[in-house]
Amino acid sequence: MCMTTDIFTASAASAAGAATRHEEHGRYAQALTLPDMQQRLAQVQARIAAACARVGRAPESVRLLPVSKTQPAESIRLAYAAGCRAFGENKPQEAHRKWQELQGELPEARWCVIGHLQTNKARLVAQCASEFQALDSLRVAEALERRLQAQGRALDVLVQVNTSGEASKYGLPPEEVAAFVRALPAFSALRVRGLMTLAMFTDDAARVRACFVRLRQLRDELRQSAPAGMSFDELSMGMSGDYEIAIEEGATVVRVGQAIFGARAYH
Ligand SMILES: *Cc1c(COP(=O)(O)O)cnc(C)c1O
Repeated sequence: MCMTTDIFTASAASAAGAATRHEEHGRYAQALTLPDMQQRLAQVQARIAAACARVGRAPESVRLLPVSKTQPAESIRLAYAAGCRAFGENKPQEAHRKWQELQGELPEARWCVIGHLQTNKARLVAQCASEFQALDSLRVAEALERRLQAQGRALDVLVQVNTSGEASKYGLPPEEVAAFVRALPAFSALRVRGLMTLAMFTDDAARVRACFVRLRQLRDELRQSAPAGMSFDELSMGMSGDYEIAIEEGATVVRVGQAIFGARAYH
């Protein structure tokens, strides 16, 4: 899994004595009260606004997706009380469990699955998610389509692209995306909205930025060549350590976990 490798990379970097951007994650304290949560969200929103201002974008053009993976229900309740209505989860089972537990209590919560999906878990995503950001195979598209049709639901999807070329990362190689996208109109329950990527996990900001630029260029190419009716408005890129760079390069969705909720014990 990509995140396992990321942990390894981070510890390798710290072993080398670098004070890394990613190590700062370890310093995010847990947001335990509503004022804590409100303050974290306000800080992140202020940074989003500042990044937008640097490149002349409207702050409303960036959607903040709080990533609640590994966080307990109590933290999600706090975030909801602070105004969050969408939650990103990377594991289908965890998303489904939280949806089941909280749907009565937090009626406006939407669940976005942002992590790799195996076909045997497609039912869970079809049932609980309003958005799936990690589509990268026709097998998964088929499995989701079948489950969605059975439930009379539709799902917003983003195609995940491996812009860093790291073998540990999921997602299609950029050069395979156009052909993949041409096959997607066959799946009428999948509403293709755009692209998602995880940047290279490195403290070299130029290499991180290059991943985001690659995704934006690919999106611009697809806007020319994509099948009619498919929109490529969404660029989901940027996490706690790199969302400001992502916004400078055109992100419309940033997926931020630790900078809002606090450090995770595990990924
Ligand atoms: C965990 C995760 C994030 C958020 O990472 P943070 O460092 O907590 O901001 C974003 N995207 C994906 C796909 C993730 O799995």
